[in-house]
Amino acid sequence: MASHGGYVFGPGHEGREVFWNAQSYEILLFVFAAVSLAIFAYGLYRRWRMWKALGLPETRTDKPGERIKSLIINGLLQARTFREAYAGIFHGLIFFGFFVLIFGAAVDATQFHFGLPFFHGTFYLWFSLVMEIFGLAVLVGVTLAVIRRYIQKPDLLGYRGKPDNTPDDAVVLLLIAAIIVTGFMVEALRLHVNVNVDEFTWGNWSFAGYLLSKTLTGMDFGTVLTLHKITWWVHALIAMVFIAYIPYSRLLHMITTPANLYMRSLEPTGALKPIEDFENAESFGVGRLEELPWKQIFDSDACTKCGRCQDGCPAYLSGKPLSPKKLVQDIKEHWETRASQVLAAQAAAKKSGGEPEIPEPDKMLVGEVIELEELWACTNCMYCMENCPAMIEHVPKIVGMRQYKVLMEADFSPELQLTYRNMENNSNPWGIGAHTRGDWAKELEIPTMAENPDVEYLFYVGCSGSFDDQGKRVATAFAKILKEAGVSFAILGEEEGCCGDSAMRGGNEYLYQTLAQTNIEVMNGYGVKKIICTCPHGYNALKKDYPHFGGNYEVYHHTEIIAKLIAEGKIALKKPLEGVTTYHDSCFLGRYNDIYDEPRKILQAVPGMNLVEMRSNHKKSFCCGAGGARMWMEEDIGERINDMRTDQAIDAGADTIAVACPFCLTMLSDGIKDRDREESMKSIDIAEIVWRSMDLEQAPAAEAAAPAAESQEAEE
Ligand code: SF4
Ligand code: SF4
Repeated sequence: MASHGGYVFGPGHEGREVFWNAQSYEILLFVFAAVSLAIFAYGLYRRWRMWKALGLPETRTDKPGERIKSLIINGLLQARTFREAYAGIFHGLIFFGFFVLIFGAAVDATQFHFGLPFFHGTFYLWFSLVMEIFGLAVLVGVTLAVIRRYIQKPDLLGYRGKPDNTPDDAVVLLLIAAIIVTGFMVEALRLHVNVNVDEFTWGNWSFAGYLLSKTLTGMDFGTVLTLHKITWWVHALIAMVFIAYIPYSRLLHMITTPANLYMRSLEPTGALKPIEDFENAESFGVGRLEELPWKQIFDSDACTKCGRCQDGCPAYLSGKPLSPKKLVQDIKEHWETRASQVLAAQAAAKKSGGEPEIPEPDKMLVGEVIELEELWACTNCMYCMENCPAMIEHVPKIVGMRQYKVLMEADFSPELQLTYRNMENNSNPWGIGAHTRGDWAKELEIPTMAENPDVEYLFYVGCSGSFDDQGKRVATAFAKILKEAGVSFAILGEEEGCCGDSAMRGGNEYLYQTLAQTNIEVMNGYGVKKIICTCPHGYNALKKDYPHFGGNYEVYHHTEIIAKLIAEGKIALKKPLEGVTTYHDSCFLGRYNDIYDEPRKILQAVPGMNLVEMRSNHKKSFCCGAGGARMWMEEDIGERINDMRTDQAIDAGADTIAVACPFCLTMLSDGIKDRDREESMKSIDIAEIVWRSMDLEQAPAAEAAAPAAESQEAEE
């Protein structure tokens, strides 16, 4: 048995004395701790003032219950971080390891200050084991992080193949590793002196420190005591440097990321806040940093540069100048400069007693900090926002800046100008006469709401379903399915207008609001309650954005309705679809509305279905390139996004690309043409696949069936 400072150690007396061998310097420790905390507090206070220096007001503290839930799921349990296996594991090891070690230090301090005898007996042994395991977990986590950042060097930790490592990244990893390594060294030195570990099994519980202590065999106690004291101080000082360093380094994300998770948008996924009081507003959109809501500025400070937003961004991957990570980092850098200028001006004004004279920014946010080509490259696909572990809101920033270019400067692409003119004049992007909107349904004997306002559903057909040839085929197939299943529905015909999604996401909020309000007036006039859309863009706008203007409806996508009709046995699928089919997740259906299962369930219900997944699917699906008004714009930088997605379908061995969106249908049909696969491959909407499989007539849908199936029929 060993005895130190009144503590007796040995079998049945397992434990340790807090501050053992360092008691005489206890005061010094508190002085260092106070300095460290003061530096930490000053850094945080300065940051706090910077956060408050710029930005428009916005409330992000309502509904605390919902916010705490989000914080627990994504902060404490790291749900989003674990979506990527490697990074999730190393971050989880460091995060949970540190969490437990800090808890252990708190137990340590409680024992010391309140004299509670925690550190003895069985509790102590288990405590030692847990600390040992989590200490090692942190070390493994740091090692994995180092391997990834400095050896594997994935592109998401850089920009176009160039790593964006800074000295701060290395310092943080070194500090964490140093805290853990010196902690084990202190333990080994203490065990060597305090315990004759061979006498009993104590060492097994503190196995890492114990193994390390074996290297000290033969070293005299005096030397070990001195070494222990030195190492103990080194360990304590590194821990204090770590704390002081937090507000001045990437470690700040330990505070800003949870804060950002708490202050996340509670709006439905992807809904955009409308510009309020259009008539009286003096400016529109975001031209300068100051015109962003404060939360949109704050969240750039929560960015950890992890690159997960970038690694699936279709704009970035197709070689366009946009990277959502870079965009956020550029905003952050600009904010740091501007906030410092504002604080300096405020300090000068305080001294002189005058008003702060805030200098003009060196750079405009739009066009200089964020280049126009970046701004217009975004497809609003939501990959960035749905995969960002810090829940940073990229899309509202981008749309805000587009609004400035469109509404304040009228400076945007000629193609989009034409699209908007068409939407203004004929309420559709092609500019086809608005009076022909209902012509596609003339032969189908579908009632209009004017003829029968008492139907259960309004089938909101949308512009593609009304004017585009491929879209009309989808609308026709779906209407036939509804009729066959006996669903009570009607269309608006000429009274229907464009949903306005492309105008809203392309920055023309004025046009969007005009279109939305016109539609809402008509729909509310008929007392519409339930709506079905075949276009996910219209579906999303009607469901999430129209409520801002008094349009409150139950909105369904046609895949939801078809899946229900199949499940209820109201339609039967008989005719097989031959060949290999893959399903392309529309961004506005999948990431925006979490509809992943219904389309797949429908396809699985088709006889003979051989359904395969593309490399990118579900939440990580790859955009077709048409969202965010990109459908109407030239794509002349980098590779075409639709071609890249088509390549994924080809790689999956598919000859049919099933879609559930008219934009995706157009883009992937074009992709198939671009890849010279028209003879062997087709893109086709799920409604057409279903109608064909119902095998009730030689519908137009049959013409569009997969060529593989057609060639088989020919042989038969
Ligand atoms: S919304 Fe899509 S295209 Fe736009 S920045 Fe995010 S990931 Fe890229
Ligand atoms: S914005 Fe989010 S996903 Fe992108 S680098 Fe920053 S923290 Fe990572």
